[in-house]
Amino acid sequence: MNIKDLSIEELDVLIREKGLPKYRTDQLLYWLYKKPVESFDDMTNLPKSLREEFDKNFTLWSIKEIETLISQDKTEKKIFLTKDNDVIESVIIPDKERLTLCISTQIGCRMGCKFCLTGYQGFKRNLSPSEILDQILWAKMQGYPITNIVIMGMGEPLDNYHNVKKALKILFHEKGISFSHRRVTLSTVGIIPEIEDLLKSFPQIVLSLSLNAPDSVKRAKIMPVEKIHPFKSVMNIMRKYQKRRKLFTVEYVMLKDFNDSLEDAVKLIETIRSHKLRCKINLIPFNPWPGSPFERPEEKKILEFQNLLIKNNFSVFIRKSRGSDILAACGQLRWKRLNP
Ligand code: SF4
Repeated sequence: MNIKDLSIEELDVLIREKGLPKYRTDQLLYWLYKKPVESFDDMTNLPKSLREEFDKNFTLWSIKEIETLISQDKTEKKIFLTKDNDVIESVIIPDKERLTLCISTQIGCRMGCKFCLTGYQGFKRNLSPSEILDQILWAKMQGYPITNIVIMGMGEPLDNYHNVKKALKILFHEKGISFSHRRVTLSTVGIIPEIEDLLKSFPQIVLSLSLNAPDSVKRAKIMPVEKIHPFKSVMNIMRKYQKRRKLFTVEYVMLKDFNDSLEDAVKLIETIRSHKLRCKINLIPFNPWPGSPFERPEEKKILEFQNLLIKNNFSVFIRKSRGSDILAACGQLRWKRLNP
């Protein structure tokens, strides 16, 4: 078992059951989450016998970095090997004063969004809490001053909610990584009731709804989840929690000749207004992958779409494509490794 799969409370019980004082829990937590080290032996203020016992009974790292790719735009992609010999990816994205880390929560994904290479690859398994946390802790140990975390890599986080929630509790806990709620964005297709529990449990986390279509009929054509968890129900839940928080984000992957017309923009405006949801909109021009059924819209159409939304008083951003020379988009590198 990996020691970071235990919650902070479970670790405390473990230490107490050994008859050790509480400060030993704090010392252990310090080495796990404040100043991560490579081995139990590096936890120098713990008694040697305790370090040896941990080493016998637990693993400290659940994933191993096997490669770092650095893009011309300074985006870095970390490739990690899991214990079952698969690979997961995280991406470090510098942008002015921000350094954002994008992490994965599953190997593959079972949501099957038609525009997504990870979805196309199918689902293998959920990541454990330690595998989710280790992507962050590895960056921390290597000295990256991460300012923001986005849970937008491989997988649908709310489809692995039990493990994601356990990892988030450690991420935010003052004795854990102690990261600010407000600097974490979780992107989801919207799974009920997990989305409601997330909004209750972590009211300050930034939530991003992956919408990608102006109406339910079109969405169902590219996102099978729409038939089980319609976005209208998801938006109703989000509206319930609107008062307590900043804006939500709506993500809209722009697909040529599918959802990029001005009629689509008008419908999108109507849809969001009809749900009285205050949100900002991120337009994500599609990044084609080999064999993908969609193409990227022309620049002119993307700008026209954006302008119409702006004229209707929405905050709209076009997400820049980062790290395309190192296949930084979600799932691309795993796909290449599995299909050389
Ligand atoms: S877009 Fe997200 S939810 Fe959809 S298949 Fe890809 S990883 Fe899964």
